[in-house]
Amino acid sequence: MTTLVFTHSACIKHEPGPGHPESPARLKAVLAALDAPEFAGLERREAPPAEQAQIARVHPANYVTMILEAIPASGYYGIDADTIVSPGSGEAALRAAGAVCAAVDAVMAGEASNAFCAVRPPGHHAEPSRAMGFCLFNNIAVGAAHAKAAHGLERVAVVDFDVHHGNGTQAMFWDDPSLFFGSTHQMPLYPGTGSVTERGIDGNIVNAPLSPMAGSAEFRAAMSERILPALSRFGPEFIFVSAGFDAHEADPLASLRFHEDDYAWATTRLLEVAEKSCAGRLVSTLEGGYDLSALANSSAAHVRALMAA
Ligand SMILES: [Zn+2]
Repeated sequence: MTTLVFTHSACIKHEPGPGHPESPARLKAVLAALDAPEFAGLERREAPPAEQAQIARVHPANYVTMILEAIPASGYYGIDADTIVSPGSGEAALRAAGAVCAAVDAVMAGEASNAFCAVRPPGHHAEPSRAMGFCLFNNIAVGAAHAKAAHGLERVAVVDFDVHHGNGTQAMFWDDPSLFFGSTHQMPLYPGTGSVTERGIDGNIVNAPLSPMAGSAEFRAAMSERILPALSRFGPEFIFVSAGFDAHEADPLASLRFHEDDYAWATTRLLEVAEKSCAGRLVSTLEGGYDLSALANSSAAHVRALMAA
């Protein structure tokens, strides 16, 4: 079966301002990489906007309204020091969350075995009532809630290999034993959460922090010894991936030393668990990654592995 890619031109129109690392050029670089002939077999679909009710499964409804009303008609508005919105940000944020829901629907319908959402703004730092870290709505958590609510799934997992801890996803999953969150990330680093002692309920949160300068060997050990065994024990009916590529050694925002082939390796391992546990059902969405060349190459390695499933 095929791999789907969900994206939308509106996601390029979210402009956080000159010099901001979470730039429209990021998504352009990812999409350009996926234009290579080897990716001709991908099926591309436009990401629909999420319904506000879908987002309100993980954020209070008045938070959703507040974010959309904060979008300026011109210029920029800073929700916090580094989370900046501009006129195109509302539609981009709705389509970023909607992409993950549509990807879930397509995979559940058997239209594809897996999917990658090439969207921005990213989502994993967005807490229930707080936008932060370039994130407005928690796209992956919206997708996980959609898998449960719209498809009746009872065990849904997110694995997050972005270099930053997915504090927002963890907060949303914290006391719900039907949800699993496993994360590798650099520590210490923004946002400061993600220690091994943060374990949620029934061990449904598994944090595997990595020291600055850790590379392929440490990442693969953390995945093989901590994240993947816990994920397998959880027995997910659907696996989501918060695919941030800022742990790459070229990334300017952190100091881990992953390579493109680490992302291919991790993707293949996650697909193996998905194959055993849930007929291969897996949806991945773009989070961080701020060196354009590393981001493009790493995304390509990730999607190449998805297509090989
Ligand atoms: Zn990140």
